[in-house]
Amino acid sequence: MLVVKKFGGTSVANKERIYNVANRCIKDYKEGKDVVIVLSAMGKQTDVLIDLAKDISDNPSKREMDMLLTTGEQTSVALMAMALNALGVPAVSLNAFQVAMHTTSAYSNARLKRIDTERIRHELDQRRIVVVTGFQGVNKYDDFTTLGRGGSDTTAVALAASLHADSCEIFTDVDGVYTADPRVVKNARKMKEITYDEMLDLATLGAGVLHNRSVELAKKYGVQLVVRSSLTEAEGTVVKEVVKVERMLVSGIAADKNVTRISMIGLADKPGVAFRVFDALAQANINVDMILQSIGRDNTKDISFTIPRDATDEALKVLEDNKERLTCQEIKCKDTVAKVSIVGAGMMSNPGVAAKMFECLFNSNININMISTSEIRVTVLIDETEVEKAMNAIHDAFGLED
Ligand code: ADP
Ligand code: ASP
Ligand code: MG
Repeated sequence: MLVVKKFGGTSVANKERIYNVANRCIKDYKEGKDVVIVLSAMGKQTDVLIDLAKDISDNPSKREMDMLLTTGEQTSVALMAMALNALGVPAVSLNAFQVAMHTTSAYSNARLKRIDTERIRHELDQRRIVVVTGFQGVNKYDDFTTLGRGGSDTTAVALAASLHADSCEIFTDVDGVYTADPRVVKNARKMKEITYDEMLDLATLGAGVLHNRSVELAKKYGVQLVVRSSLTEAEGTVVKEVVKVERMLVSGIAADKNVTRISMIGLADKPGVAFRVFDALAQANINVDMILQSIGRDNTKDISFTIPRDATDEALKVLEDNKERLTCQEIKCKDTVAKVSIVGAGMMSNPGVAAKMFECLFNSNININMISTSEIRVTVLIDETEVEKAMNAIHDAFGLED
């Protein structure tokens, strides 16, 4: 039996927590299981490293950022292996290079392509606990890459898939997936189970409890995930294909403040203009999310869209550089907005869910900037100062509390 256990930053933030994790993993080891541990950097170490870089340069290269950030995870895995050894259990730490976790070349946002399992298998065969760095990979230039913030979850799922693990547990500082971020919505309810699709939407829409790529991979390879607390024995939430309980109209709410709205005003109202705008952004590797195009007037039209806030400077530069070619008269930018979304498979067959959400926002006197929907979600763009109010109001309106 092989188990993959992933622990996030708060779970390994100090000596006591590291020993707590070590002891938890030794329990599995002593039951005869092969144990692979995936770790994040300790506490807020990744943020500390980012601040260090910002202090040195306004515009550090992404390659050097990844070189820097990967040290966070290297520190925690080495310390964990030492703790396990100190407790009398053989263990070895491995970084992405030593395992050989191959990724695409995109620094800061790489995707895992292939994981060599030989070294890990060899270490497990020697009855060692293997402690692997999360969040990092190696590209074709033999450089370190990172998988995007929160990416250690994805490392864990990818390892579980490659090693055909019998279980993949994601240990964190909350005891499962809730109907909304329990730090924002006090009466949020823990879910026993959630489907991959619903979890994928929640994660993509800002529920930071799981990295969205990890859910995508889990679905693709059929890896059943359990999200649970590293500090208690509480049961946690199972993320899997089919959920037996009756479908809720809305299963969860998510918010995302990493958003900027850009409006391109006075574009020529002719074919190819939208293509050029979004192609320019795509070439710069910038993800565009909600898109709204106005109806034409006087042969011009406006297009508004959202991008991740941390890509604002880059996006504005690309658009300003191409302003004339894009036939744009004015570019407006608002980075004090946020997305709030409701997700639920039950929406598909129940009309009126969006209306109920809008009514609830109206009752709370919250203005909606943009709207987008899919079969199982509704997203609104609102002022970021109103996120907490909106989430609590929507949570109440749909009766998601305990
Ligand atoms: P880790 O360092 O363990 O990876 P994260 O901070 O990445 O932990 O994720 C856990 C956090 O996710 C929680 O502390 C919680 O505030 C947040 N979160 C957001 N949405 C949800 C949700 N729907 N359910 C549970 N936690 C959520
Ligand atoms: N340490 C990385 C981060 O803070 C990866 C992770 O925690 O999953 O984003
Ligand atoms: Mg995380």
